[in-house]
Amino acid sequence: MRINKIEVPNYEDVRQCFDEETGLHSIIAIHNTTLGKALGGTRLWPFENESEALKDVLRLSQGMTRKAAMADLASGGGKGVIIANQNQKTEKLLIAYAKFVNSFDGLFLTGEDVGISQIDVVTMRAETPHIFGIRDPSIFTAAGVFRSIKKCAKYLYGNGDLRNRTIAIQGVGHVGYNLALDLLAEGAHLVITDIDKGLAERVADKLEIPNVEPERIFSVKCDIFVPCALGGILNKETIPKLKCKIVAGAANNQLAEESDGYELLKRDILYVPDYVINAGGLISVYMEKMGMFEFPAIHHRVSKIAETVEKIITIAKECNEPPQITADRMADTKIRLAADAQNRSYWI
Ligand code: NAD
Repeated sequence: MRINKIEVPNYEDVRQCFDEETGLHSIIAIHNTTLGKALGGTRLWPFENESEALKDVLRLSQGMTRKAAMADLASGGGKGVIIANQNQKTEKLLIAYAKFVNSFDGLFLTGEDVGISQIDVVTMRAETPHIFGIRDPSIFTAAGVFRSIKKCAKYLYGNGDLRNRTIAIQGVGHVGYNLALDLLAEGAHLVITDIDKGLAERVADKLEIPNVEPERIFSVKCDIFVPCALGGILNKETIPKLKCKIVAGAANNQLAEESDGYELLKRDILYVPDYVINAGGLISVYMEKMGMFEFPAIHHRVSKIAETVEKIITIAKECNEPPQITADRMADTKIRLAADAQNRSYWI
């Protein structure tokens, strides 16, 4: 196994790993540990090349630093990526990756992300104690999104009652499906989509709700659009199609470019910063790591997400700026103050 350091300005520790025996090709990035050890999932994805994987891991690890700060966790930001497809994901490859994680001596703590299942987490746990998320975090992610949606509705419409509100959900996987159950129980009208047609049909049949083709979800006339699939879906092509007043969902990195936040503002669409609203999963993994995996304690922390969302959208409105910009500034200020208190340099 070969592990090399990659020097990246403003990142504490970035390493690449090659293992010829198992075919492992991976990068782990620790962005910032001012608030605590770096915590962030591992993504397994067939990236086109290493520079695409590096770009993803750098962006995601920085997002984890801000996510932990906004969720008031004593944890820093990191992320791991494995360049592979699902057929290349063998037990040996996962074990090799776990050894790579061990090379950080416990400063990088990881768990599941796109392409890594809970079974994979259990497999890696045999090799490293630095992996968490043995339990499914998505119910907590969905709970944070649900409460935040109600808060946004209250902010915009004067009450958080979702009865007769139309809500379009993109992606009905772990988070999207759990969220759909919560929203239906509130009396919302749902429209869903998923690129997995079989899944979309099963969910639509079971919940007795309409299901549209994936490309049609952006133009569904609705009150709230809820992205729960992949990143980059708010861009130059999709934003002009939106017929909603609020975008609030779990997917990471929803804005393709920072400028897309300004486009949403111009269209008077309230956008809730993804890394703030989707922190429920991180909170549950953090609590597991701390040996405090208890539902009431986790739900108590998750309920705070909606309060933070309310604060951000209120300040953003006052400053006439995209909420993403407000959230970044608030997160960076928290980290800067902590860095000052520790006499550390501040890098974001
Ligand atoms: P998942 O893989 O279980 O579900 C995602 C679903 O989206 C899948 O069913 C997939 O087929 C569908 N999809 C992908 N591309 C699509 C497209 N273009 N149009 C429609 N559907 C599409 O993932 P998940 O755990 O539900 O997570 C959803 C999103 O939320 C991801 O972006 C993830 O990174 C983010 N997130 C998840 C958690 C968590 O706790 N699981 C926490 C924070 C953030």
